[in-house]
Amino acid sequence: MSENERPPVMNQGVPGWVPPGAAQPPDPGAPAPAPAFPTKFCFACAATLDSRAELCPKCGVRQPMQPGMGGGIGFSVNDATTRTGKSKLAATLFAIFLGSFGIHKFYLGDTKTGVIYLIFFWTVIPAIIGFIEGIIWLTQSNEQWLAKYGDA
Ligand SMILES: [Zn+2]
Repeated sequence: MSENERPPVMNQGVPGWVPPGAAQPPDPGAPAPAPAFPTKFCFACAATLDSRAELCPKCGVRQPMQPGMGGGIGFSVNDATTRTGKSKLAATLFAIFLGSFGIHKFYLGDTKTGVIYLIFFWTVIPAIIGFIEGIIWLTQSNEQWLAKYGDA
């Protein structure tokens, strides 16, 4: 044990020492507050935008067309929307997965048929019919589907 092996004297220059009141770096683990409206990110500057925005208010760059906005550019889902905003895609998924409870019927405003599905769900027949309806809707064009359910 010699004098040379003493640890260095601690002082205020220790790395990582932050004076009280100094600005703290933002915590990267903190989740961003949930937005109250559907959002997307500007593909140019990554600013958070309303999902319906066509222009980024921050950088002014026009955003790629979104599904349902009438454009055929880029990512698009083959979906149709009724007069009251019901989605063909959602109705189809309801029919396939929740057909036994008639959820797709309730969704499209056909409460009477939906109740019948619900009453007979234990027979599994509504599930089969719902599944078949969903498959038919999948194969139908949006125009064909809207001709039948467009007013729903
Ligand atoms: Zn932007």
